[in-house]
Amino acid sequence: AKHNGRSTFSWYTPGLDAEAQKRQEVENGLAKALKLDQFKLVYQPQYALRDGTLRGYEALVRWEHPTKGEIRPDLFIPIAEDCGLIDEIGTWVLNHACREAMLWEDQSKKVAVNVSVGQFVAGETQKRVAQALNKSGLNPRRLEIEITESLLISNTEAVIETLRQIHDMGVSIAMDDFGTGYSSLSYLSLFPFDKIKIDQAFIQNLGKDTSTDAIVTSIVGLGRSLNVTITAEGVETEEQAILLSAAGCDLVQGYMFGKPGTVAKHEAAYPIFPHN
Ligand code: C2E
Ligand code: CA
Ligand code: CA
Ligand code: CA
Repeated sequence: AKHNGRSTFSWYTPGLDAEAQKRQEVENGLAKALKLDQFKLVYQPQYALRDGTLRGYEALVRWEHPTKGEIRPDLFIPIAEDCGLIDEIGTWVLNHACREAMLWEDQSKKVAVNVSVGQFVAGETQKRVAQALNKSGLNPRRLEIEITESLLISNTEAVIETLRQIHDMGVSIAMDDFGTGYSSLSYLSLFPFDKIKIDQAFIQNLGKDTSTDAIVTSIVGLGRSLNVTITAEGVETEEQAILLSAAGCDLVQGYMFGKPGTVAKHEAAYPIFPHN
């Protein structure tokens, strides 16, 4: 049972199934969260696998709900996309990530920000990025935008043009969750991505089946020949790290090396590398 039109909504609607009811609740909460500044960013470190140097962080948004506690983005980003709040939340994320990166002790570290489909549909993405850079004073070379290929499925031309403009500012562009969609490979010819992030699903199966190992090795090889940096995300075990190292993977990110948290905490723990 789907409700039609936001104007007909009431807090409790008997016709709505539990799922729709929950969505509506999140939708209302999100608008409030923006006003009350209930979002925060946590940062997950990315390391060079070869020498263990810390290269930068991925910014991941959290909703600090007053009664429900910390809410993960998978639970509210898709809803924000549907109800049109993603532009505002995404802008908040961009601005905060740039501003916070300016406060880090080490000003050589990059910050990667996730930008989702809905933000591109709004058509203002390049403006938002430029504004975040201007307002914060962050060097564009320290900013990276992560997109997923779902973004490229529709509206390809317009999205590519937007990416080009952002890239021209000096910002790098990463393709996130690589390998999960059916046209990952073809999109690589449409835009000069700076980085490819191999989806966690592949990393988690490393060493478990030979075809996954072969796929990961191929993606790394592809990155080498296209001159694209390859990041493995979701690295949890030493075995995975060793296999990735053997494959020649450039960067790693995952619980094994650091969970999303504060930059101060990650910097205090550095260097964490058990290797070399
Ligand atoms: P993602 O971009 O693929 O981010 C990686 C997710 O994997 C993060 O979950 C991270 O905490 C988790 N992760 C990292 N290392 C490991 C590991 O070793 N093992 C496992 N099992 N998981 C690991 P998180 O923070 O819950 O984010 C989920 C998704 O929400 C992100 O997936 C991204 O698509 C989206 N998201 C997060 N922050 C933002 C944001 O600021 N804007 C937008 N538009 N989307 C965001
Ligand atoms: Ca990401
Ligand atoms: Ca990812
Ligand atoms: Ca993902």
